[in-house]
Amino acid sequence: MNKPVKKIVIVGGGTAGWLTAGLIAAEHNSQSENGIQVTLIESKEIATIGVGEGTWPTMRETLNTIGITESEFVACCDASFKQGSQFVNWRNDSQPDSYYHPFLAPHGFGKSNQVDYWCKQHNNQSFAHALSYQPHLCDQGKAPKQFQTPPYAGVANYGYHLNAGKFATLLTQHCVSKLGVKHIQDNVLKVIGDTEQDIDALLTQENGELAADLFIDCSGLHALLISKHYQIPLISQKDVLFNDSAIAVQVPYAIEDKTIASHTISTAHDYGWIWDIGLPTRRGIGCVYASDYATDQQAQEQLTNYLAQFMSTDDIAKLTFRPIKFSPGYREVFWHKNCVAVGMAAGFIEPLEASALALVELSAKMIAKELPANTAIMPITAKRFNQRFNYRWQRVIEFLKLHYVLSERTSQYWQDNRKACSIPERLKELLSLWQYQPPSYNDFTEIEEIFPAASYQYILYGMGFETLPKTTESRYNNQQVAAKYYQDNVQLTHKYLSGLPSNRELINYLVAQYK
Ligand SMILES: Cc1cc2nc3c(=O)[nH]c(=O)nc-3n(C[C@H](O)[C@H](O)[C@H](O)COP(=O)(O)OP(=O)(O)OC[C@H]3O[C@@H](n4cnc5c(N)ncnc54)[C@H](O)[C@@H]3O)c2cc1C
Repeated sequence: MNKPVKKIVIVGGGTAGWLTAGLIAAEHNSQSENGIQVTLIESKEIATIGVGEGTWPTMRETLNTIGITESEFVACCDASFKQGSQFVNWRNDSQPDSYYHPFLAPHGFGKSNQVDYWCKQHNNQSFAHALSYQPHLCDQGKAPKQFQTPPYAGVANYGYHLNAGKFATLLTQHCVSKLGVKHIQDNVLKVIGDTEQDIDALLTQENGELAADLFIDCSGLHALLISKHYQIPLISQKDVLFNDSAIAVQVPYAIEDKTIASHTISTAHDYGWIWDIGLPTRRGIGCVYASDYATDQQAQEQLTNYLAQFMSTDDIAKLTFRPIKFSPGYREVFWHKNCVAVGMAAGFIEPLEASALALVELSAKMIAKELPANTAIMPITAKRFNQRFNYRWQRVIEFLKLHYVLSERTSQYWQDNRKACSIPERLKELLSLWQYQPPSYNDFTEIEEIFPAASYQYILYGMGFETLPKTTESRYNNQQVAAKYYQDNVQLTHKYLSGLPSNRELINYLVAQYK
């Protein structure tokens, strides 16, 4: 039976549920009588995953679309500015190393062959430092903009670090009071409907049956609708990306006004890596590891050793460590019948490069923009959605794997990560190509590519990969153009280092403005 899509029920009140609710409600006038009705149901008893503190620059447009101001967001979510990631000790385990993956593309990217120029003229400097001013800003804990730069605009491209719990709270208040989202706190007990057909309704513990035309599964790792009801399998990626465990901890600053890092710090260890995220009030730190290579106890020791660099044993003993387990993979399809999965219910791969929330934003935006007018055309929308997100998940996997395959670290975990059988075919092919030409737009041709060619350049050359070795004569006739961009970048670096406030100064300014 064909019927118009007027009512949407979202299951789950984590970041995925509320971002999806906000984006759909903002696009479809849910606060008005004739708008699309959006209801979000979340359990009081089942906690959200509670991590997910690093975002991409896409979050600026998302917040702006939903109608949350930047100062409100920064003040209410203990947010700080993120300008990229720094990878420490990923290249080898014999001597210290580090490189940046900033959010800004190399200066002159796409206009000339900067890679060739850097390789021949400036390889004594890291690729990212030579071609972008952003790593220099990160080195000095600088903010990506000035006090008077308009909200959500930047001198340098930026995303955020945030407190995930406070973010869900702000989104809840905003979506309910400003966007007309109906909020129900209750447990979903059962899905009503044949598994071969559309879902009719959800049976809840205290609110009876909740009927809708479209159901969005944001129930996190529970995957209530997409997995438990429809039995859509997860395509495991554990043979490519081995990590399936994490231990998270929140760490206070030793002194209140300590510099806030303007980037995520990811430090490699023998069976995974450690994230370190600076918020104004605390740091969020966590050890990601593969349970096939390390016990939980070994991972805990790895994390404790990291903390011991700046904390006393007594202070470490006071912290609460939270273990998290996950199965790396993504759904065979994300949109099935009248149900679409977003967030952890759709899949999850380790948090390296923080792509999960970006995928949530992209999913929610596509649902909002392409919301089918009726159930008869829904299969077409579902097919398009599935094709697009299948492509995106595969690109995420290849890009994350790139971080591992060039490492010279020696433990079994790293050796196995380099084995050809664990590397996706497309990535292997591209790596062969990139020995002779740098990553370019031609390698990533979709609109809204999840990781652009510039990101691949930062990882490749940060990890010491060589395209056209230094000794090879240049194939490119553009050294003068490239030299100009290089010089430009030197000048911009001086200008912004002296003109930009620190990350903490800008945060304090925005918080004061909000109050
Ligand atoms: C270790 C780790 C680090 C991460 N770091 C990052 C990062 O830096 N950046 C990033 O982008 N992402 C990161 N992520 C991913 C990110 O945390 C998630 O994508 C994000 O929080 C969205 O989660 P979610 O809303 O899908 O699920 P959840 O937060 O788990 O929410 C699930 C919701 O479903 C509800 N629910 C479940 N069952 C029922 C039921 N029966 N009835 C009613 N309600 C129900 C729960 O109450 C809850 O509200 C990380 C993940 C992990 C595991």
